[in-house]
Amino acid sequence: AAMREERIKKTKTVCTYCGVGCSFDIWTKGRKVLKVEPNAEAPANGISTCVKGKFGWDFVNSEDRLTKPLIREGDVFREAEWDEALDLIAEKMSAIKEESGPHALGFISSSKCTNEESYLMQKLARGVIGTNNIDNCSRYCQSPATMGLFRTVGYGGDSGSITDIEKAGMVLIIGSNTAESHPVLATRVKRSHKLKGQKLVVSDLREHEMAQRADLFVKPNPSSDLVWLSAVTKYIIDQGWADREFIDNQVNGYDEYCKSLEEYTLEYAEQVTGISKEDMIQIAEMIRDSDSLAVLWAMGVTQQLGGSDTSTAISNLLLVTGNYTRPGCGSYPLRGHNNVQGASDFGSMPDRMPGYEKVADPDVRAKYSEAWGSEVPEHPGLNNHDMVDAMHDGTLRALYIKGEEMALVDSNVNYVRAGFEKLDFFVVQDIFFSKTAEYADVILPASPSLEKEGTFTNTERRFQRLYQVLEPLGESKPDWQIIMDVANKLGAEWKYEHPSEIMEEAAKLAPLFAGVRYDLLEGYNSLQWPVREDGTDTPLLFTDGFPFPDKKARLFPVKWTTPLEYEDKYDIHVNNGRLLEHFHEGNLTYRSKGISSKTPSVFLEVSTELAKERRLTSGTEVRLISPYGQVVVRCHVTDRVKGKEVYLPMNDMGNAAINLLTSSYADKDTDTPAYKDIMVKMEVVEER
Ligand code: SF4
Repeated sequence: AAMREERIKKTKTVCTYCGVGCSFDIWTKGRKVLKVEPNAEAPANGISTCVKGKFGWDFVNSEDRLTKPLIREGDVFREAEWDEALDLIAEKMSAIKEESGPHALGFISSSKCTNEESYLMQKLARGVIGTNNIDNCSRYCQSPATMGLFRTVGYGGDSGSITDIEKAGMVLIIGSNTAESHPVLATRVKRSHKLKGQKLVVSDLREHEMAQRADLFVKPNPSSDLVWLSAVTKYIIDQGWADREFIDNQVNGYDEYCKSLEEYTLEYAEQVTGISKEDMIQIAEMIRDSDSLAVLWAMGVTQQLGGSDTSTAISNLLLVTGNYTRPGCGSYPLRGHNNVQGASDFGSMPDRMPGYEKVADPDVRAKYSEAWGSEVPEHPGLNNHDMVDAMHDGTLRALYIKGEEMALVDSNVNYVRAGFEKLDFFVVQDIFFSKTAEYADVILPASPSLEKEGTFTNTERRFQRLYQVLEPLGESKPDWQIIMDVANKLGAEWKYEHPSEIMEEAAKLAPLFAGVRYDLLEGYNSLQWPVREDGTDTPLLFTDGFPFPDKKARLFPVKWTTPLEYEDKYDIHVNNGRLLEHFHEGNLTYRSKGISSKTPSVFLEVSTELAKERRLTSGTEVRLISPYGQVVVRCHVTDRVKGKEVYLPMNDMGNAAINLLTSSYADKDTDTPAYKDIMVKMEVVEER
């Protein structure tokens, strides 16, 4: 074994960080990651990677890795054997189900885990426990985009591939810090803009890199994008620039939609959004003059109080201008996590089975009930937002979270943590002793992507295989094995020997993935859903019409939701998002030396105006106080933000964690928290 460990091994994997889905070869010797070698065959990234994919792997050998199951005893945890931990889980979950029924239990899947693991988690919830209380973190990010697309075009995914974005005549980026959040994808846009004459318009609160590069940058007031989008669409229609042929042949609801736009005049939009009429007219003219428009958007849109409606307004604009069905056109909601697309695709949602078939459909339930040999419940499930309330009111008694740092990444975390304390039984399955794990009764040690096989689906709906690079550390196990062990302790008889068998089962049941097979995904091969039974995939959506009975898309009227009202003393708006070097709360990147030494902590971006008014300089420590909590952080004075708008990166695991400030208010259609709608007051922390 020692000899074998000395050999250098080269294995293909898929990045564990963002939704771009870069794949590459990873060189290892024993457990040491020697280097990451890009491969021209990689479909999403070719030879590009960003700093996280290249240098962000030390965490797999971190001393903080969990290597044994842990069981709570009073205020401390003790190590346990797997059998003991699994027996305890089965005993407690069965007892709670017996006493309070299956809906007293909830399950949360992980966007870091594989498609196969997401499938198994929802099968455990539905098929073994008998509840639809299953969700994943797309509830925190992209559910509103999915909702906007379901309403208008029928599929909740990017319209085409990253290479299609390169072909667009015009790219409109709204509420996305693309250069830092989706770096490799941003490189493609930068290149097309610089070398191929692609037009670039950016709308954001903050003048980030893409904004600086843009032909036109507009800065709307917080949470007002729906208004300028609707005004631009109305102006296009009024000028006679709508694509009538496309609308007549492929779109329903045009007249009613036009009526709904009446109030969205340029004058009204200028007043609400702060964007000048001239700029809106310029955007409309640029759209008119471009042969194709791709709109890229992210959390700056979806995490508004009206995130679903704003996403819908984007899709409406694309339909009115005939910007679907061709390369270079369409909707590109940029998925955050490496597998946030797949977590929803494979049914970790309270109302959708794998492939987005509805739980409410009796035929769909019958199909799964027959395949699994147990009844899929009809009762609609709780999403993760509902689950927090249900912990507080005592109706949710047990929770099983896999790889989700809910105690830091959900909004209003003080409320979430208080909810955890009310649970009768709490299982956390993770690779680290996370903040969430502090509240658990049993902690199960899982394996990160490098220690397992499976598939991830990136933002382009692209399935890619990851191959096992390392053995699981200590007694940790791949999540699919742990879920199977838990299910079997609860009486199931699952016998999967490899994730390919799980995919085989899912593909048989979910028509969207009918032709997905591991042999078609060998090496750098990939497939983009929908995948027909014969293995033909769909890089560009809607070329055969839209997935509605009459094959036509639908214009969907929407109304602007005004931002939350705060008392006057909360006079500063806190925008939030990512830094290039760190990923989300930072459990992985702060444990990767190369990265954390470069950017050891977050800082608060404040404008020069605010700095002058409050006598702040870079380095001043301030306390931000919202109605829900407070954070302490050092300032960085910059021109990127303006006036009383500040920017706090979300990458902090301690006293500067953004969600100590956020509220429990959420988008009415999806319950996605309004993370971007925070007002605070600011105090300078006195030097001690
Ligand atoms: Fe990983 Fe995203 Fe960076 Fe690609 S762009 S290397 S997927 S973090």
